[in-house]
Amino acid sequence: MRHGELQAAEMGRAAFAGAAHVALSFDRVTHAFRRRVVVDDVSLDLRHGEIVCLLGPSGCGKTTLLRIAAGLEPLQRGRILLKGRVVAEPGREVPAERRGIGFVFQDYALFPHLDVLANVIFGLDGLAPAVRRERGLALLERVRMAGHAASFPHMLSGGEQQRVALARALAPEPDVILLDEPFSNLDVRLCEDVRAETLAILREAGASALMVTHDAEEAMFMADRMAVMRAGRLIQVDTPDAVYLRPATTFVTKFLGFVNAVHATVAGGRVASTFGEHRAPGLGDGTLVDVLVRPEGVRLAEPGGAVEATVVSRHRLGADSLIVLCLADGGGSVRARLARDDGPAVGCRVSLDIDPEAVFLFPCDAPGDRA
Ligand code: ATP
Repeated sequence: MRHGELQAAEMGRAAFAGAAHVALSFDRVTHAFRRRVVVDDVSLDLRHGEIVCLLGPSGCGKTTLLRIAAGLEPLQRGRILLKGRVVAEPGREVPAERRGIGFVFQDYALFPHLDVLANVIFGLDGLAPAVRRERGLALLERVRMAGHAASFPHMLSGGEQQRVALARALAPEPDVILLDEPFSNLDVRLCEDVRAETLAILREAGASALMVTHDAEEAMFMADRMAVMRAGRLIQVDTPDAVYLRPATTFVTKFLGFVNAVHATVAGGRVASTFGEHRAPGLGDGTLVDVLVRPEGVRLAEPGGAVEATVVSRHRLGADSLIVLCLADGGGSVRARLARDDGPAVGCRVSLDIDPEAVFLFPCDAPGDRA
């Protein structure tokens, strides 16, 4: 069975995940706003100490799932379990503040009238003031913000506010931390540093974290496992390596970065397209398929090969270069990504040598690609 045909109800289940290993479970959760289903039969386990990224396009239901887990949105169908204990089922909800869940919001949601230390220790009820202060300062030390303990949020940069929000979420030592697009307000350069720091802090704290993002590279960087969502459903749940190297559907392949794409029909167990001929295991003759080729799988060789093209433009992308080519037989354009910028100049004729590992074939109407 292909990944794309797996039942959504089973996909997010960890193979070995007995209750003892699981920090947070979504068990067949379905949710609708004004009768429009935005979360559709989602089951997903977050193991202890694991970082899982929920990845998907805008509006696919990621934030709604997080809010249901946190108790900020009443559960309609299914169950939420924390460490094997049911905290939400229809008509019975443990209140948000008693779930032992930390939340880092997209806009950080720091209290503007409290200084940094007061923000961090806000949720530490039932502890002596000196103990709260000590714990708050230790956390600020951990996120490298101890020097700002007396500052107010408006005096901090976006990256600094994000670190304070993380310290505040970690302060009560929650069983689970939920992060909703925590880097989306940071500029690209800062974002890379803050991501790396956040990952290190979560690892050091041994946190079990579920993070929402629509940025595939961010998910691959942060996650032990990625849960790719589309239109309320989980499409694929696996390690970043597995999702990148063995994407389940056309949608997943395209969501992880640009791909060259054409349609072709399977004949004699093979597919012939403008990208050449490839084996089509598991696909019946006559099946219309998407033929997807990642740009890094398009290598350029001397002219005279089976697939000929002309270089149309070249673009330097830092260490790599993007080469746009026009296929000789009028078959459209193709993008190649070269690790070194010593490829042919604009106007040169070349042959395309496609790496079979970078070619993906999926039936055009595969279940995971229906919106
Ligand atoms: P984004 O990445 O843009 O934040 P998302 O994947 O997190 O998107 P959600 O915020 O979960 O998506 O929203 C899923 C769908 O539910 C969207 O179409 C959204 O407009 C709708 N929605 C979310 N909250 C509500 C609400 N309170 N009332 C009505 N519709 C809502």
